[in-house]
Amino acid sequence: FLPHLVASMEQVDETYIMVKPDGVQRGLVGEIISRFEKKGFKLTGLKLFQCPKELAEEHYKDLKAKPFFPGLIDYITSGPVVCMAWEGVGVVASARKLIGSTDPLKAEPGTIRGDLAVQTGRNVVHGSDSPENGKREIGLWFEEGELCQWTPAQAPWLRE
Ligand code: GDP
Ligand code: MG
Repeated sequence: FLPHLVASMEQVDETYIMVKPDGVQRGLVGEIISRFEKKGFKLTGLKLFQCPKELAEEHYKDLKAKPFFPGLIDYITSGPVVCMAWEGVGVVASARKLIGSTDPLKAEPGTIRGDLAVQTGRNVVHGSDSPENGKREIGLWFEEGELCQWTPAQAPWLRE
């Protein structure tokens, strides 16, 4: 048993985070990026993007049967979004906690939705719900050449 190897073997996950059109229109882009940046995760992809309808439908394909689906697609394609890829140990679950519950009125204060939104249909941000979906969604929203691998200078000050 080599304890010094255990930390380095911890699984590094990726998550797809997106500032939705309401977040962009309301001037919340910097605020939302800051929450993930300050937490200590690593940004590996970032762009402002007008999402085509087909991509929105593919991204939310699991919700196709829901009555709110057409409205959701209109919402997501109604203006530019900010697409982000973030990396780190436990990033998927942690990002979901930072984001808060789907319904902003139920989201805890201190979370992005709890602090910055009031309605499920305008909940300002998306975050992948599993490591598998993190990979899938980053693959959907980014071309390979748009992602950067780099070592933040603060790395040794974030993890032992
Ligand atoms: P999330 O993972 O917390 O974003 O929630 P879901 O995966 O369940 O739903 C995806 C997105 O669909 C949500 O973030 C909302 O933008 C939208 N959505 C979910 N449920 C509803 C609803 O009941 N009404 C409306 N208008 N939108 C919804
Ligand atoms: Mg979801």
